[in-house]
Amino acid sequence: MQWSMQELFVIPDCRVVTVEPVGAAGLHVAAQVKHSHACCPSCQRPSQSVHSRYHRHPADLPSLGNAVHINLLVRRFHCRNPICPRRTFAEPVPELLSPRARRTRRLVGAQGRVGVTCGGEAGARLLRRLGMPTSADTVLRLVRALPLPEYAPPSIDTAATEAPARISQDPEVAKARDLVHRFAELIGRAARPGKGIGKDVQQEACKVST
Ligand SMILES: [Zn+2]
Repeated sequence: MQWSMQELFVIPDCRVVTVEPVGAAGLHVAAQVKHSHACCPSCQRPSQSVHSRYHRHPADLPSLGNAVHINLLVRRFHCRNPICPRRTFAEPVPELLSPRARRTRRLVGAQGRVGVTCGGEAGARLLRRLGMPTSADTVLRLVRALPLPEYAPPSIDTAATEAPARISQDPEVAKARDLVHRFAELIGRAARPGKGIGKDVQQEACKVST
């Protein structure tokens, strides 16, 4: 089974045109957006009227140990809506890149996650070995830009109904509860009217407490 270039180099919303080696461990992937039109960001009207073309060169995830740079051909469209204040706009590639970004979203995510685990300096050293070279400062900047994990504090109702159920399943809690019950039973036996603390109760209390 043979893999095509499109299957080996999957770039969201884009068609790969060529792949060329650059230097000892680098690849240039020429690509272009595969849609025939784009929607104006101001009025949302679609346009196929091309104003001009230009290139963007974002770094991407590595391939087979090679650092990858995409040479992306981007079009600028006319907006033909007479009541729209925007005359031209660049076609967006939102899944791949944010506007003016110099690295793809998936590379930003990978470098940021390495930074979370390794820190700035060690992360930058590891990323160089993994074909995603960048500086320690950039690693730290990407870590700071990562979204914080979502945390929803439990409501009072949830805390009242779920927490006791979780606690009751804890084996340590069950052992402590059993201990309390056995002591309570012994205290009850010892406090029976007309009877002092018998030897059997004292022995049982010693066993429970150990
Ligand atoms: Zn418009």
